[in-house]
Amino acid sequence: MRYDTVIIGGGLAGLAAGISLQKEGRSCAIVSTGQNALHFFSGTFESIQEPDQRILDLFNGAGIHVHYKKGVRLMPLGSFRESGLSLEDVSLFPTPKIGRKVLIVNFTGYHDFFSAFLAEGLEKQGMECRIRFLNLPEFANFSAMRSVQIARKMDIAWEKVVQEVRLLIKDEDTVVLPQVFGLRETAVVSRIRQGIPAQVVFAGTMPPSVPGIRTQMQLKQRFEVLGGTYLMGDRVLKAHVHDGVVHSIVTKNLDQHYLEADSFILATGGFFSKGLKSNPFQVSEPIFGLDVEYALDRNQWYNPSFAADQPYMAYGVKTDAQLKALRQGESLKNLYAIGSILGQSHPELGSGAGLAIRSAFAAADDILSTPSV
Ligand SMILES: Cc1cc2nc3c(=O)[nH]c(=O)nc-3n(C[C@H](O)[C@H](O)[C@H](O)COP(=O)(O)OP(=O)(O)OC[C@H]3O[C@@H](n4cnc5c(N)ncnc54)[C@H](O)[C@@H]3O)c2cc1C
Repeated sequence: MRYDTVIIGGGLAGLAAGISLQKEGRSCAIVSTGQNALHFFSGTFESIQEPDQRILDLFNGAGIHVHYKKGVRLMPLGSFRESGLSLEDVSLFPTPKIGRKVLIVNFTGYHDFFSAFLAEGLEKQGMECRIRFLNLPEFANFSAMRSVQIARKMDIAWEKVVQEVRLLIKDEDTVVLPQVFGLRETAVVSRIRQGIPAQVVFAGTMPPSVPGIRTQMQLKQRFEVLGGTYLMGDRVLKAHVHDGVVHSIVTKNLDQHYLEADSFILATGGFFSKGLKSNPFQVSEPIFGLDVEYALDRNQWYNPSFAADQPYMAYGVKTDAQLKALRQGESLKNLYAIGSILGQSHPELGSGAGLAIRSAFAAADDILSTPSV
């Protein structure tokens, strides 16, 4: 099977690159093993403030509604953090105050939404909070109350929540609900806001993240509508590389049917997604054996203070200025590395989601401007 570009890893970075290339008429395949960081996504693309038009076009083109306002956003335990480009689910505030009187609504038996901590956090900031639980018959047969199961029901039964919350409101100006709405029916988020006669704020839950899964599905769908091939649930095992050029890759499911391409993009994420691996002696990149930037002294990999920034989080594969990956000090001519597998080796591209998208655009632009090898 031959494509113009094969992308390894279908998280934010891989999808942003695939969409950029497909839009310009290139044929792409994305091979992706499984879950990615979007499944744990807060709803805010940290490190993207005042986004440029190209980033907005990426999301708008996929039907993803985003907004940005300088200020703060509410965290799951009632604290606040600086705002970034956010999904419509996430409310942004000029100061750490979401209202005067707040009604926090949870579902009976749902333990992945920390309503008590949330109330405590908000009360510390001077807000008056009341917590109430909804007991809906829709959840009667659930063996476990998890965000995705609830969200599936809520795509259909969201009006029930609106009716019940309307009855619960006394004199509150703000209602906080868990972020479990709009899994497939994205309009549900705005319908709930319209139906409840108070400001509605959605607060984060334990993973998996409903807005993150939705974002992943929308980007994947956009890539496929543009003609891209997404090979879900497959794992790239190794590559055939000769004279500094990647010719093909081998996947678990396709076995002898190698995937060939003019160019390849490695978007396999950091340690979390197994894009990087470590043992007590070294940090490595498992598919190509790329050069990795890390401290040789293992004691420097981590900071014993749990809450501190951990040095290993900054480790990533080495590239040249065009993001072509290095192996034994030499650039592979047609292999780009993008997203969190870069660690913090390219501070000019930002970190987190900003790094994922900007490095994806940079690699796609270089591929589009380079004749085939
Ligand atoms: C738990 C977590 C939560 C985060 N939350 C946020 C947030 O809320 N906001 C924010 O701005 N940033 C967040 N980040 C930062 C995040 O890294 C970036 O925002 C971005 O989503 C990373 O995208 P990526 O595509 O580089 O990597 P990933 O999302 O990690 O995707 C890599 C993909 O590659 C696949 N893969 C790995 N190896 C192979 C293989 N051999 N073959 C095929 N596929 C493979 C994986 O299965 C995975 O699907 C979070 C990071 C983590 C780890």
